[in-house]
Amino acid sequence: MSKNPVSSKDFEKALEVGRPPNIKTLFPNSKALIVSGKVIDRAMMAKGKAISIAANGRNQFVIRGALLAAQKANSALIIEIAKSEGGAKAYCAVNFWNMAMLVDAVCNELKITVPVAIHADHYGIKSDKDIAAAKVEIPTMFEAGITSIAIDASNLPDDKNLLASITLNPFIPKWAGYETEVGEIKGDAGLSTVEEAVFLIQGLNAYDIFPDWIALNNGTTHGIEEKDSGIQVQLTADIHKALEKYRVSGAQHGTSGNSSERLRQIVAKTRTTKANVATALQMISWGVQVNDYGNAILDSSGNFNKVKEEGMTEEMWAEMAAYAQSKGWKKGDYKNLNLPFENKLLSLPKKIRERMVKGVEDFVYKMMTEVFNSEDTALLALETILKAGSFDLGPKMTRIESPEDWTESKITERASRLGHDKGPAGKFDD
Ligand SMILES: [Zn+2]
Repeated sequence: MSKNPVSSKDFEKALEVGRPPNIKTLFPNSKALIVSGKVIDRAMMAKGKAISIAANGRNQFVIRGALLAAQKANSALIIEIAKSEGGAKAYCAVNFWNMAMLVDAVCNELKITVPVAIHADHYGIKSDKDIAAAKVEIPTMFEAGITSIAIDASNLPDDKNLLASITLNPFIPKWAGYETEVGEIKGDAGLSTVEEAVFLIQGLNAYDIFPDWIALNNGTTHGIEEKDSGIQVQLTADIHKALEKYRVSGAQHGTSGNSSERLRQIVAKTRTTKANVATALQMISWGVQVNDYGNAILDSSGNFNKVKEEGMTEEMWAEMAAYAQSKGWKKGDYKNLNLPFENKLLSLPKKIRERMVKGVEDFVYKMMTEVFNSEDTALLALETILKAGSFDLGPKMTRIESPEDWTESKITERASRLGHDKGPAGKFDD
């Protein structure tokens, strides 16, 4: 456990100045230090070669376990949910509109004092219709306590991605964490290139938009890894290097299913400060066996291996498996069990619920302390807030690109010269 606890005076001050206005309005009397995503990125940068876990809170057990682990490791933390998981057509009970409330309540209940950001991940934009809907929906998400967002128009061609990101930027508070995506992860097809990443970041820069993070398609996939393609460390390092002067950090998606060794290389060799972990935490909360890096282990007949005395009861697991079978769901579709079964899982006895949480806590703590090097970043986050004296840390960067080089017609013309094939569409998750 960490040896650098925060003084109570500093903590009180951080609560007073460090919580964004939406959080103060929602939770006026709270002792939960919910902060902008920017705080988490800066804390990881301050430590150096450190990555914050962004735990996808697909159920309440994951949220509790991740918060307990962060407290034990004295680590800053991001709790997130993606549009597919917790948007308007979600498959989880935890969503964009109740997640901050859940996190705030759990922090107060369990006396969690580490800073936590509430991130809306993969806010997917695939059409003009999505852009129009986003203008209405994004404000509702911030009203509900989101403090960070990934606008993901990476499914669109490069120019449309950039233009959609510019169009939606006024709907994101300046103080909030902001992630942009150049490529959607989907294995080794349509890998992101240095050129298209630089194009996106330069174009945003010309419009005074300075993302905290950029996500790439760097070779891994969402969900369960079916083959050992994994994250391409060198490609990631090369792209981050090319973006160095724009001071944008990396966000790594699809972390589940990459070996600890590969993840340590991402820590050591790239500028990544955020790593999304979704599938592994869901599986562990359920009591499904995973290997040391969170990839589910299937038995000889291709089924998940539910470990006795871990996660939910055997009876509940049998019910869930039967439900999945009745729907004809394959292993990758099991995530759809989250929504119909959340209340059933919450109605399990306390002893069972606690072991579901404990499994997540132990896994996340190990990742934080043995892989991602985020131990004691809570203190650095606090120092960052107190030094700024504000919830708003401001951007890391100033404008260096000329707006006249990035008019809409020039954006389209520049994009046509990238000539990059993004490959087939992937699946959005974490
Ligand atoms: Zn993702």
